[in-house]
Amino acid sequence: MTRNNSQTNAARDILENAAGGILHIDLDALASNWRTLREHAGGAETAAVVKANAYGTGIEKAVPALARAGCRTFFVAHLSEAIRARAVAPYAAIYVLNGLFAGTGPTYAEFDLRPVLGSFEEVEEWAGFCRAQNRKLKAAIHVDTGMNRLGLTVPQGLTLKDRGELKDFEIALLMSHFVSAEESDNPLNAQQIEAFEAVRSTLPGIPASLPNSSGIFLRDKPGYDLVRPGYALYGGNPTPDRNNPMKPVVGLNARIVQLRWVEADQTVGYNGRWVALDKRRIATLSVGYADGYPRAASARGRSGDELLAGMALVAGHTCSFAGNVSMDLITIDVTDVPESQVKRGDTVTLIGGDLTIDEVGRRAGTIGYEILTNLGARYARAYRGGEA
Ligand SMILES: *Cc1c(COP(=O)(O)O)cnc(C)c1O
Repeated sequence: MTRNNSQTNAARDILENAAGGILHIDLDALASNWRTLREHAGGAETAAVVKANAYGTGIEKAVPALARAGCRTFFVAHLSEAIRARAVAPYAAIYVLNGLFAGTGPTYAEFDLRPVLGSFEEVEEWAGFCRAQNRKLKAAIHVDTGMNRLGLTVPQGLTLKDRGELKDFEIALLMSHFVSAEESDNPLNAQQIEAFEAVRSTLPGIPASLPNSSGIFLRDKPGYDLVRPGYALYGGNPTPDRNNPMKPVVGLNARIVQLRWVEADQTVGYNGRWVALDKRRIATLSVGYADGYPRAASARGRSGDELLAGMALVAGHTCSFAGNVSMDLITIDVTDVPESQVKRGDTVTLIGGDLTIDEVGRRAGTIGYEILTNLGARYARAYRGGEA
């Protein structure tokens, strides 16, 4: 190891030792999940959705790891994210889902990026930009088949083929997006497939894309040219009514700053929303809602209650939160952990083992997607794997 490297490692160790929260991100698991999704994709190209900083895991780390696994197409939400992805994936196709904003054409061209066009105004603007450049640049067309959010309506999609602008640019992808693909029995899935198929048949020869993570696992899955998984890549369960076929990618440890005993009838935390019924031992963790851990996971009630609230794993014991989640701190009830097994400076698990991102989301009344995309900037980030 070079001197430089060992200095870097030492600096990293100090940062990890001083950090209130340590986020572990397993890039090998990420690559493995991409390969698993590819196996389920029925021969379609498997892209990767890396919006929102690759669902919190870090664009600069996740994109190269996925590219090394063989991924050639990436989707982001913002132009700024696309520029970051381009810096680490020089040869990939990169699409910007949130559409074309006025005057951004030159930036798309400079970084060789592709807008996802979702209205006739955007189509006209992109076509105009391409005419002015005298280049047939690539873009995707988004057709809204039920979300009522982004994209041409189905009737608009059916008339697209007659529009003069189509000679000015290249439609590299025709896409739509599922509303509830994680509910495999939802009749909307088949309705969306049918509506998309109608538009697709008017534009033969253009590659088509519909499934997100859960869409890949639908029983009657559409056999399109490209699939766009996001959540499942990062370990989220794309099949909530069945076992999770994905490997966990993200783990979160939090450091214990203090331990204390509280007497019966004392409360813990802001507003005194949790009451100790008997003498309890409380550990205070150096992570809070400012780190993206949801305040909605606060435990309001009495010690021993079964609350739908946050949990931590402490030396193999499951411990419930006690009281409100604060900005920078979380208090947990460690009374049931043998005293010798928990001390100041130890780290406990907030995400990991049975505390999957789906479970952490459920306990905060939200979804794992929100847990991932809020993973805070204050955590020390420890990446493993990702080499070719
Ligand atoms: C976010 C997103 C995806 C990925 O969805 P997951 O459920 O995370 O797999 C795919 N397509 C579009 C249009 C999206 O916005």
